[in-house]
Formats: sequence, C-alpha cells, structure tokens
Amino acid sequence: MQWPQAVYVHVPFCLRRCGYCDFTLVARRDKLIPAWLDGMRRELQQHRELVGRKLPISTLFLGGGTPTHLQVEQLQELLLLLREHFHWTADAEVSIEANPDGLDDHRLDVLAELGVNRISLGVQSFDDAVLNVLERTHTAAIASDAIRRAAQRFPNISLDLIFGVPGQNAESWYGTLQQAAGFPLTHISTYGLTLEQGTSFHRRERRGELHRAAEELEREMYLSGIEFLQQHGFEHYEVSNFARDSFRCRHNLVYWNADEYFAFGPGAASYIHGVRRTNCRSVVRWLKSWGDGVPCVEDTEQLDAAQRACEAMMLGLRLRRGFSSADIESRFEINLHELAGATLVRLTRSGLLEQQGSQIRLTREGLLLADTVASELLNPEAGD
Ligand code: SF4
Repeated sequence: MQWPQAVYVHVPFCLRRCGYCDFTLVARRDKLIPAWLDGMRRELQQHRELVGRKLPISTLFLGGGTPTHLQVEQLQELLLLLREHFHWTADAEVSIEANPDGLDDHRLDVLAELGVNRISLGVQSFDDAVLNVLERTHTAAIASDAIRRAAQRFPNISLDLIFGVPGQNAESWYGTLQQAAGFPLTHISTYGLTLEQGTSFHRRERRGELHRAAEELEREMYLSGIEFLQQHGFEHYEVSNFARDSFRCRHNLVYWNADEYFAFGPGAASYIHGVRRTNCRSVVRWLKSWGDGVPCVEDTEQLDAAQRACEAMMLGLRLRRGFSSADIESRFEINLHELAGATLVRLTRSGLLEQQGSQIRLTREGLLLADTVASELLNPEAGD
C-alpha cells in the first residue's frame, strides 16, 4: 500500500495570543506541554500500528502555534519521537515555524543538530509600530538579530510578512520589504491581514475601535510586494509565496498539488487514501482524549473523485503555473467539462482565469480574488 511522504505536526503553544490569530493553540499554558508530548507519543504509536512499519518521509513541517516556544529538552523529545516513527530521507525538507523572540543560539544549535534544515520565521514587519498593532511580542531589532543568527546555521530561511495592518501605510510596507531583501533569505510569504470571527481584532472592529486597511491600499501593497520581490530575485510561485532558486516550500507544494499527507496534534487535518480526517480543534479536549488513550477526531470525510478533482483545481490555482486540466482528468478519471465547464468558462470570460493549452491559471486580476475563485471551483457548475 502506498503511503504519503509528508508529515505535519501541530504544536499548539504560544507565549501570548496575538489579537488577529484564530489558530488552534493555547497561550500561557506551558504546564500542558508534557501532556501534549504524551498525547503525541500515543497518536504516533497509533499511526505506527495502522501502517505497520517505519515509513520514509521527504517533508516534515512543525507548525503551530510556535513550535520554538517549547523548551529545548521538549523540542529534543519531539524530534527524537518523530525520528523513532519516520525515516527521514537524506534530502528531506524539515521545517519549523519560529518566532524571533526566545530563539537563542542553543535552541538553534539543537534544532540544526536534530536535522531541522528550514526555519520559517514569523517576523511580520520591520516596523515596530506595526508589530505593536499586531500585538507581537518581538521588535524589529529582535527579528533582525534572530535572522542573522539563524542564517549562520540554516541554509533555508523563510520570513512571513503581513500587509494591510490598521495604520500601516505604503512606506512602512516598502521599508519592511527592503529590510527583508537585505538578509540572506531563500523564501518569503506575504499575507494580507484578515479579521477572522472570534478574534479580538474582529470584536474590536465591530465596536469601531479598529479599522481595517482600505481595500485599494491593501491591493497596492500586495501588488507592490510582488513587483519588489521579483525585482530582488524571488520567484512568485504561489499566490502568497516567493522563493529564490530551488527553495520553494516542498511541504506546502504537497498541499497545493493535492497530494496526501499525515498530520498529528490538535486541529491537524490529514489526507490519506482520499479521506480527510481532522483532529479535535480544542487543545484541552485533544489532551484529555489522548490522556484516556482515545483518538480525538472531529471530522472524517471520504472524498469522491469529483470532490478530489475540485480540490485539486482549487489548490492548483494557488500556484502561479495553475493546473493542467489534462492531468486532473487522467488523475481522477473525470471529464472536467462535465464537472466544471460552466464555471471555468465564466471565470475565464470575467478575466479571472486564463488558459494556455491544457494549463489553466489565475490572471493578475484573478490573483486579487483568489479566495473567491477557489470557492467557486469547490462547488462548480457543469458545462452544457
Ligand atoms: S505567534 Fe503566531 S500562532 Fe502564536 S498567537 Fe501570534 S499569530 Fe498566532
């Protein structure tokens, strides 16, 4: 039986919850970390019993939360546990999400020794006023220092940057891009700030205490970011992602190529043999359940060929090269015209999609409405 070669691990701990964050995590509850490690041990053991052997993997992604919020010994325990259950191939991409504060030399050394070879740093901005609005716990100076020290140890460093922050202007965004371009980075992700329901930012917006950036300014920041990063040697390969040379994020490409993956930890969703299984999003419930030795799964969905094809289109469109209609038809044994012909024609006529041969991709206008296009392709209309 064929198994995925990609693993995601969700580490749901942070120093403090930022006002815009709706991820599965707990803040200031570090006492729960040992119980989470025990839960991980049990979840990985259950996986091992299911697959019956130690599988090779070519990508491992530790995300969160802030995985580097763990104590060094806890990080060691986690990485050794993952080595016990998976054989990392010689060229495996092993990524960890990190925040600049607390990223001391010892922690970086231990991560490098244990095989981590890619760091994704949540820098967000080099403007302290913007970092303050975002309620981040680091400053631009701390971020710069962390990048320099990480660059001495890791060949592959990515930064996350945010635009469209209340009060942020075009100069501030440009300054952040310029500072980022001065570091030896291989990868940059740029995200527009979203005010998700349930976050304190969303509540503050409803009370009139916080005003989201004007749409026109946000659009200008996104497009100027693309132009700037391309001029500085980064390839715009995905809606929000830019890479130098061969440093595209191989783990995230698994998602965008609609390939399958294992996932462990609270709220993590795996996709194996056409089945999407999402763990309980409540950290406390996940811990309690595994504490009793019982798996904690919230949703299980078996996708049929049409659903898998729609997902592959939706995810493939995030890539700048788009997707090949011929590949999707042969991979899922479906007729794309019958499945989504009317939607594809309509999106093309409205200037959001373009087609060359069997390759379909977002236009520049489509990039700005990528989420809308994606949701249309998840529930498409058939062609005549
Ligand atoms: S550091 Fe990142 S994961 Fe943690 S609360 Fe802030 S935005 Fe969320």
